[in-house]
Amino acid sequence: MIEIKNVSKWYGSFQVLTDCTTSIAKGEVVVVCGPSGSGKSTLIKTVNALEPIQKGDIVVDGISVANPKTDLPKLRSRVGMVFQHFELFPHLTVTDNLTLAQVKVLKRGKEEARVRALKLLDRVGLQAHKDKFPGQLSGGQQQRVAIARALSMDPIAMLFDEPTSALDPEMVNEVLDVMVDLAKEGMTMMVVTHEMGFARKVAHRVIFMDAGKIVEDCSKEAFFSPTEERSDRAKQFLSKIL
Ligand code: ADP
Ligand code: MG
Repeated sequence: MIEIKNVSKWYGSFQVLTDCTTSIAKGEVVVVCGPSGSGKSTLIKTVNALEPIQKGDIVVDGISVANPKTDLPKLRSRVGMVFQHFELFPHLTVTDNLTLAQVKVLKRGKEEARVRALKLLDRVGLQAHKDKFPGQLSGGQQQRVAIARALSMDPIAMLFDEPTSALDPEMVNEVLDVMVDLAKEGMTMMVVTHEMGFARKVAHRVIFMDAGKIVEDCSKEAFFSPTEERSDRAKQFLSKIL
């Protein structure tokens, strides 16, 4: 579903990604972790072409981001993205947050979009809040709205960039629970997170990044079993967060 092939990227003269290669199969859940500044956000943003790459290619469902003929807005609309800071439209109600792109981008009728929105709000447990504005919701509720909004576009894959790291601790699980359900339903997911409980529960693979490189890319079982093969950097990182 997602193929990342020898991707390198620079911000000016600073090389932020170096020769990153991995792939994510349909239905696979891959957790990306690593120290701050290692390039996790940048890598995940290159997958839906929010950040351009200078070398290599990324192919999402057969569509190449490096191909100048690719319709990047269309590609973006097919890959859902959830950020650390929710990024909901503050001046729109919860329901309108969920219908806007359906109507504008997918050209759905308003009623069809509304029905879909309410169904998704029900799924994340927020139907009762449909007419509120984002500022009237808790962080955990806002993040669940953001997930529902991404799902309203019927994405072929979902990208999450530290979706729980801005939340108060008591709200982390309500968001992770929604993500666990999604994973169990077979959604293809690339998740930057340090929530190793989530990784243990639903990840198929774990990627560990350091200084712009993919240092480890292995099964969850291999990642969490302390073997000699574990890189020193990953061992050090795990010892700090576990
Ligand atoms: P992570 O998500 O793993 O913390 P990022 O992908 O955000 O890492 O950042 C990787 C590196 O790239 C960091 O050194 C960061 O300072 C740098 N960086 C990120 N965004 C930009 C930008 N827009 N311009 C210049 N440097 C950036
Ligand atoms: Mg980041």
